[in-house]
Amino acid sequence: MVIGAGPAGATAARRLAENGISTLLLERATIPRVKPCGGAITHRALPLLPPGGEALLKSHPCAWTFCGRNGRSVTLARNLPYSHIVERSVFDAWLTDRAAHAGVEVHDGEAVTAAEVTPTHSRLTTKYGRYTADIVIAADGAHGMMAKAAGFPRPRRGAAIEAEIPADAALLQHYHERVEIHVGQYPWGYAWVIPRAEILNIGVGSFRPAMFPLKERFFEFLERIVGHRDVVPLAHPLPYRLRWDPPVRNRVLFAGDAAGLMDAFSAEGIYSALKSGHMAADAALESLRHGTPCRTYAENLYEEFWPALKSAAKMSLLFYPLAGFWSDVFGQNQELLSHYLDVATGECPYDTLTRRAEHQLLHHPSMLLKRPRLNSAHDTFGST
Ligand SMILES: Cc1cc2nc3c(=O)[nH]c(=O)nc-3n(C[C@H](O)[C@H](O)[C@H](O)COP(=O)(O)OP(=O)(O)OC[C@H]3O[C@@H](n4cnc5c(N)ncnc54)[C@H](O)[C@@H]3O)c2cc1C
Repeated sequence: MVIGAGPAGATAARRLAENGISTLLLERATIPRVKPCGGAITHRALPLLPPGGEALLKSHPCAWTFCGRNGRSVTLARNLPYSHIVERSVFDAWLTDRAAHAGVEVHDGEAVTAAEVTPTHSRLTTKYGRYTADIVIAADGAHGMMAKAAGFPRPRRGAAIEAEIPADAALLQHYHERVEIHVGQYPWGYAWVIPRAEILNIGVGSFRPAMFPLKERFFEFLERIVGHRDVVPLAHPLPYRLRWDPPVRNRVLFAGDAAGLMDAFSAEGIYSALKSGHMAADAALESLRHGTPCRTYAENLYEEFWPALKSAAKMSLLFYPLAGFWSDVFGQNQELLSHYLDVATGECPYDTLTRRAEHQLLHHPSMLLKRPRLNSAHDTFGST
């Protein structure tokens, strides 16, 4: 049984059904459902999609603009796109449709409201009845209830707020195949503009959202970009981990945001949702076929994700408290910025980026002494 029809759950369910396992997918929302998300997926995610996924990629940004303090900006352009943009409601509905096509029984509009987890099975309750499952893949996202039910510690929580804005021709032209990231005024986070065909996805996110008024900053940013505040934005948590915790409890396997696999520097989570969906299904298949425990899932996930997630957490700690400093560094030397894009495209391992960032810091030791205070709601980083 799989809970949650996001990229993690829909993928896991499809893979189970494709391998002949009778699979029920329970989704709280009615599909298609809205998921606040920039919808940027990196190259490495593409092979994880079922055939036909290319048709859902609406834009293919080749350029990336990094805006730092004092209005300075740097644009890096590449010959090939470094990411592809999907509309999440359409993308997730399509993944769920592919799962149904493979034989998954999809129950949308049916939330799991209670769960009893034992060493041999789980019992799930919804408003329509009770289900017993040998193995549960919990892909119920940042708001899921399975973590608590199974005794899996919740990830840390950042937050993001965003809206999709229909843009006029001039703005669309301005952001044509170009993503823009703004740092410096958003403690432990950033603001973004992501173009997707005829709309702009505009948002502000932070891994420490209690440090500033996220909603207020979002509206200020929105007005700066599109000249009005006339939207109802959506907010959603950014679940991430700074320490590894094996995402298996008894015979419940956590995947995607429910496992806390989001990158703690960039907030990328679609790739890890898709990949962990595949891996959870493979682990469940092995366990069902051979009667073995699901422990290998935790080991495999650790090897697959933790080196990069650990580097991302380190990068976050190196970068965000000194975002103003880094915006100056990037203004003078685009090599590091370029390495960041190489990480996104999978051409450079994450730890190479963090090592290079550390190297930069060692060459500017005075910046470490000028580290700004981090405990005031009004602090803006790097304003020393
Ligand atoms: C504003 C914002 C922008 C982002 N931008 C990007 C981006 O550009 N690129 C990127 O890679 N990542 C981005 N992310 C992260 C990305 O959206 C997530 O990491 C990704 O959606 C995780 O997928 P998932 O399948 O694990 O969870 P989700 O997509 O959250 O799916 C979980 C599903 O579980 C369902 N569910 C929850 N509880 C229950 C229950 N009790 N019973 C049944 N169903 C339940 C929910 O309704 C939901 O459909 C962004 C996140 C935010 C908040």
